[in-house]
Amino acid sequence: MKIAIVGYGNLGRGVETALLQQSDMEAVGVFTRRDPATLDSRIPAYALADLPHHEIDVAILCGGSATDLIEQSPDIVRHCNIVDSFDTHARIPEHFAAVDAAARETDHAALISTGWDPGLFSLMRVLGAAVLPDGTVDTFWGKGVSQGHSDAVRRIPGVVKAVQYTIPKESAVAQVERGEGAGLTPRDKHLRECYVVAAADADREAIRQAIVSMPNYFDEYDTQVNFIDEAEFKAKHTAMPHGGQVIRHGYTSPDTPQVMNFSLTLASNPEFTASVNVACARGLYRAYQEGKRGCMTIFDLPISYLTGLSAEELRKNWL
Ligand code: NDP
Repeated sequence: MKIAIVGYGNLGRGVETALLQQSDMEAVGVFTRRDPATLDSRIPAYALADLPHHEIDVAILCGGSATDLIEQSPDIVRHCNIVDSFDTHARIPEHFAAVDAAARETDHAALISTGWDPGLFSLMRVLGAAVLPDGTVDTFWGKGVSQGHSDAVRRIPGVVKAVQYTIPKESAVAQVERGEGAGLTPRDKHLRECYVVAAADADREAIRQAIVSMPNYFDEYDTQVNFIDEAEFKAKHTAMPHGGQVIRHGYTSPDTPQVMNFSLTLASNPEFTASVNVACARGLYRAYQEGKRGCMTIFDLPISYLTGLSAEELRKNWL
């Protein structure tokens, strides 16, 4: 399979790394909106405008969900099959419709909104609902870095550097596992912890207040704000760990509680997300070779298509 990487940020770098582990895939190149000569990629870099001139089986789109993918996914699927990790949950139906129309017009296939959430966590939520229909599902995130919340803190005047960790509250996880999670609020489920490097003349109390009262980001949570210096930030807070768990609690008969739990502990969010996307690119290409066209999600791909293993091998050693 000839795989292209579109966009060279954290996720793009992760895909480049993940492709090194695949014996059935060849990296065609990185395609960027910036000057390709300025990228430090290990594989050749090209201008995004050059993409239609290359032979590509699947392009893995690594742009941001906020503004890039909404435009890039329907545009690039006109040239080749694509995988993206669009994660603005509320806009997935609209994004799906736009990509589906463009893919069908040009006889291509696409798989959108994959990764771990949306992605593997979505699969587990559906599996839980299928197996335990009389039940509830809860998702906890962390401990890990939220890029969106970190960006929001960095925009506050006087903040030089900042990172925000989302931390699940163990008491809430235990409540959910006992089937007593109904009515838990955002504050009950997650703690937010910020590490901030402030400018020398900044008013730290004003920064703290701006963070903890920020609507939509922090005001509904317990938030800790820790001021640190640049050296500590560099030493302890530049990695991108994440993870979390999906818990389905349900009853198979009135007095028989059952718990399904799927969890991830990730040292690098982008490298793991990239690894999911690469496996999905394999699955999408197989579906494409079998005649599937238009847009799909991870719900539409047989799990076996994600591996390079044959059905016989899977039946023999993996059931
Ligand atoms: P980045 O901000 O690192 O990169 C996004 C794009 O910005 C890149 O594709 C690149 O495009 C451009 N860019 C990157 N670095 C620079 C720079 N120094 N200067 C200018 N432009 C730059 O985002 P991430 O890679 O961290 O994340 C991408 C998306 O992945 C997120 O928005 C999120 O939606 C999604 N995601 C999904 C997950 C899931 O589980 N479904 C999990 C994690 C992330 P170009 O090369 O064309 O300039």
